[in-house]
Amino acid sequence: MGGTGGIIEMPGITGTPDTSESEALATLHRVFGYDAFRGEQEAVIEHVVAGGDAVVLMPTGGGKSLCYQIPSLVRPGTGIVVSPLIALMQDQVDALRALGVRAGFMNSTQDFDERRVVEAEFLAGELDLLYLAPERLRLDSTLDLLSRGKIAVFAIDEAHCVSQWGHDFRPDYLSLSLLGERWPDVPRIALTATATHATHQEITQRLKMPTARHFVASFDRPNIQYRIVPKADPKKQLLSFLREEHAGDAGIVYCLSRRSVETTAEFLSRNGIEAVPYHAGLDAGTRAAHQSRFLREDGLVVVATIAFGMGIDKPDVRFVAHLDLPKSVEGYYQETGRAGRDGLASTAWMAYGLNDVIQQRKMIQSSEGDEAFRRRAAAHLDSMLALCETVQCRRGQLLNYFGQDPDPTGCGNCDTCLTTPETWDGTVAAQKVLSTVVRLQRERGQKFGAVQIVDILLGKRSAKVIQFDHDQLSVFGIGEELSEGEWRGVVRQLLAQGLLAVEGEYGTLVLTEASGAVLRREREVPLRKEPKKAVTSRSASGSSGSSGSGRGERKAKAAVAELPEQLVPAFEALRAWRAEQAREQGVPAYVIFHDATLREIVTVWPTSVEQLGGVSGVGEKKLVTYGEGVVGVLAGLGEAPGAPASAPAAPAPAAPAPTVPRPARETDPGADYWPEMDAEPEPEDWM
Ligand code: ADP
Ligand code: ZN
Repeated sequence: MGGTGGIIEMPGITGTPDTSESEALATLHRVFGYDAFRGEQEAVIEHVVAGGDAVVLMPTGGGKSLCYQIPSLVRPGTGIVVSPLIALMQDQVDALRALGVRAGFMNSTQDFDERRVVEAEFLAGELDLLYLAPERLRLDSTLDLLSRGKIAVFAIDEAHCVSQWGHDFRPDYLSLSLLGERWPDVPRIALTATATHATHQEITQRLKMPTARHFVASFDRPNIQYRIVPKADPKKQLLSFLREEHAGDAGIVYCLSRRSVETTAEFLSRNGIEAVPYHAGLDAGTRAAHQSRFLREDGLVVVATIAFGMGIDKPDVRFVAHLDLPKSVEGYYQETGRAGRDGLASTAWMAYGLNDVIQQRKMIQSSEGDEAFRRRAAAHLDSMLALCETVQCRRGQLLNYFGQDPDPTGCGNCDTCLTTPETWDGTVAAQKVLSTVVRLQRERGQKFGAVQIVDILLGKRSAKVIQFDHDQLSVFGIGEELSEGEWRGVVRQLLAQGLLAVEGEYGTLVLTEASGAVLRREREVPLRKEPKKAVTSRSASGSSGSSGSGRGERKAKAAVAELPEQLVPAFEALRAWRAEQAREQGVPAYVIFHDATLREIVTVWPTSVEQLGGVSGVGEKKLVTYGEGVVGVLAGLGEAPGAPASAPAAPAPAAPAPTVPRPARETDPGADYWPEMDAEPEPEDWM
């Protein structure tokens, strides 16, 4: 691939006879400044440019936007992009304009005059791309307008919004099926990062795209490090995770309830980490302001419920942290996937514990849904629990879940690969827990939560133990060989393995059908040992940590983690320059240049504007706008330190692996539908 760095490409110069393809590639070089297409991009673009319909399933960060932006630029007319994310349209359009693309949007945030201008531009053929909300597209006036102009392609972004099962359902998406009837000659491309096969089918049917070609990309996100830690004091754990590994980085913290969103955001702010809350209970103005700050500022943390995230195309989200267990693997994958769109190292971190299991099992039981709903929800939870409790590669488990083949030797970038968890024979421990439950349940007709069971095993004479004479039980004090935390770990894993169940509003523990086999010694119970020392991305990348320079130091950014130390000052200088540009223009910093581009710039250390043009991510327009500025910043720093250019220590962002077109496993997205909670259920004896 060496030698294709130049951006000045003439169509046809590469000698490919297919002019549309070379035009697409030329556009990639000229406008976006990228060297090559990634994964399925080329195939998708080629197909759509030639007039075909496409359904594209690609993970977040996979590069979906280019799949419709390039056909919009190459085909005559305007590309119409349907997106439900009104609040993000302005930024999307700003980002395109910064690339020299003629883009506009029409939505309810504009006044009449602003809309008029866009309409006139569209009719005059002066727009390459036009973003529309689906509710606007339904209007006769909009359809009339579109009929009077020339349309290159219809792109339906976030296409999973047609799915009535998902929590992103938008009724207006259903009417998009009429586009094909009204404009049979205009290609349509539907895109989503939702991996389930069922959603995929629904998109095809509801949008009436029976002849569309399907492109399914690999769902691996190699730059995301997956880690799940035992939950002890989650807020404190989060704080040290952020201080030690992500000081000064932008990231998202997901919590289950609105209340914990609020308290966590306050907690972080009190402890010197700038954080803002986001949940559906906040008024629209506050939500929009917090979202906008997240997009614009470097290093802000958003603490949010699942209401936050769809369409947030901030490329430099360095971590996604979960303080509560997501309800399904799909949810976990979607949420963690918002980290590292730029391909740079990022962390998906989760604290998970016994209460998560009890709480979620209880929520399923007490949900309003019918029996089928509960069964589906339970199956989703079981898959999520299996991911948490696995002793194998987490990435492998994720890919398997989506029907893709993982590397059998492990990924080397998840906690279980980095420190193989030990297992131990927990059969006896399991029998002790189960016998205690049996004694209470069968002999006394009593049901208690985990706290009481553990107290009994440990021989603790707590008030509640005395009150119920539980110190008289034969099992009292039979479990002194394990600590309280270890016993909670045993109970959690028994719940996860279906050897115990949760019942009723107090989350009492009861036996399951499978418990009998363990009690009768017919079944062994392998358990995962709780890791003593947590893995960190420092220990993972092998880079020598933070000797000397205080732990909470704001400069310890993951984005520079693999950058040779002598280049860090230049990277920071460029970031500061970028922040100033962004402020002046009122756009997010990444609209100027991505971190990945800044990294490559300091690695190459261009001394002229022409040389800067060879850097990936620097297109024609940006070279003209910022070339002098960037070269000036570097020149102001003097010579390139240590001439590392011959062996760039920071490889270009890992492109998603070549794709394996293979349908994802059939899963039912139904259980993804969960409303946001106001607050957790009140603490009971298990808290
Ligand atoms: P998605 O919409 O699928 O989440 P985006 O379209 O936002 O992904 O692309 C993710 C990131 O990858 C963006 O920062 C984008 O600029 C970058 N990118 C996309 N395609 C390429 C490519 N061919 N070469 C280099 N970078 C790319
Ligand atoms: Zn792994």
